Amino acid sequence: MANKDASLHIFFFPFLAHGHTIPCIDMAILFAAKGVRTTIITTPLNAPIISKAIEKTKEINIQTIKFPSTDHTGLPQGCEHVSTLPSLHLLPAFHKATTLLQEPFEQLLRDQHPNCVVADMFFPWTTDSAAKFGIPRLVFHGMSFFSLCAYEVMRLYEPYNNTSFDSELFLLPNFPGQIKMTRLQVGSFFRKNDVEANRFWKQIHESEVRSYGVVVNSVYEVEKDYADHYRKEFGRKAWAIGPLSLCNKEKEPKTYRGGKEACVDEMENAWLKWLNTKTTGSVVYVCFGSMTEFRDSQSREIALGLEASGKEFMWVVGKRKENKEDQWLPEGFEKRMKEKGMIIRGWVPQALILEHEAIGAFVTHCGWNSTLEGVVAGVPMITWPVGAEQFYNERLVIEVLKIGVAVGARKWSHFVGDEDGDIKWDAVEMAVKRVMEEEEGEAIRIRAKLFARMAKRAVEE
Ligand code: UDP
Repeated sequence: MANKDASLHIFFFPFLAHGHTIPCIDMAILFAAKGVRTTIITTPLNAPIISKAIEKTKEINIQTIKFPSTDHTGLPQGCEHVSTLPSLHLLPAFHKATTLLQEPFEQLLRDQHPNCVVADMFFPWTTDSAAKFGIPRLVFHGMSFFSLCAYEVMRLYEPYNNTSFDSELFLLPNFPGQIKMTRLQVGSFFRKNDVEANRFWKQIHESEVRSYGVVVNSVYEVEKDYADHYRKEFGRKAWAIGPLSLCNKEKEPKTYRGGKEACVDEMENAWLKWLNTKTTGSVVYVCFGSMTEFRDSQSREIALGLEASGKEFMWVVGKRKENKEDQWLPEGFEKRMKEKGMIIRGWVPQALILEHEAIGAFVTHCGWNSTLEGVVAGVPMITWPVGAEQFYNERLVIEVLKIGVAVGARKWSHFVGDEDGDIKWDAVEMAVKRVMEEEEGEAIRIRAKLFARMAKRAVEE
């Protein structure tokens, strides 16, 4: 059945993890605001979360397809979102489970025949599904242009193989800027011995090459060299459509961004009231996204570092630490820090918090959404990459944009931080002081404001 409606109809199909769903919902809101008929495809348990986020946008529909049953996936009952997995070790099984969405997804394409499909990188099979019905597929990676180029360079040239030891620096070949990294910072999925991951990344690459093009949550002016490089050198059709976080103009959709209700209602007043009592640029905001979960020993070092810095802080530790009480904190920490710091065991409206004038620095894992939200807010960053493509984003922040300082993370890992050694408290203290007190910090703050203006201009009419 062809699309009878005269208006353009786009399917948005986000991967089921916050870092992917949040910008994809923002993107649907952006297209709907331009008069495009938009449908977000998701599974039943994710639908209520998404509908909360788009409550105010009448033009967006949600269409559900059934998540495969636990008999087929081996996942516990009710795990339709990465955040509900009891352990991140189940991530490969989760990815596998999502391949079973292909059949119901194709049924939807058959029934509704949209004009275009914007599907997440982690659904590589959607290029073929869309092609079966003559529909173009756009890929959404949720990454920066810098990282997209870096991935290409790693895939094509494997420059990490030319080093003799793990921590030896190598130059990224055929890459703008003199960017150096170490083998330790490169994700394991490039290593040939990780067969499963390797195969998956190959599929992702091939489906991207055969797709109509790529939409990127970024700002051309902020990443000009890398956007040009991605298009010219790697031959991709790519559009910079960010910063997507700015699609939410009003406070309410910003609060429910990502549809996460947990903690927001009861906490909002508390965190807002607390921030309102602080002077401009005085608070360190610490948050490592939606997946990273440091070991207790690392969390204790963070606590000690924040305490030693003498700065006020807001530290979001996520729900997984909720029931662990004080084991992950130094003895008596919360009592001592009662006036100085706020620890949040749950979810906060991060984009809204970063905009608050009290925030003076952002300790971030360099997830691309967080990084770009930091850029938009004009807040200097203390970079602490952990996994995924976060080490690339760190290089962008530190060496290209020069709007932050690195805490000194050395080794890529799956969401838990460097297992060989914690970043010690004095490194945290020093990074905070460099950004917030020293002369170096002044230059960083000025540049951060400059890029924030650039980012905001990108989405002005
Ligand atoms: N986020 C949030 N509140 C939280 C934690 C995270 O709003 O308490 C949002 C954050 O603003 C960002 C997303 O979750 O939009 C995390 O995406 P990112 O790419 O930074 O990291 P990931 O979670 O994918 O590692």
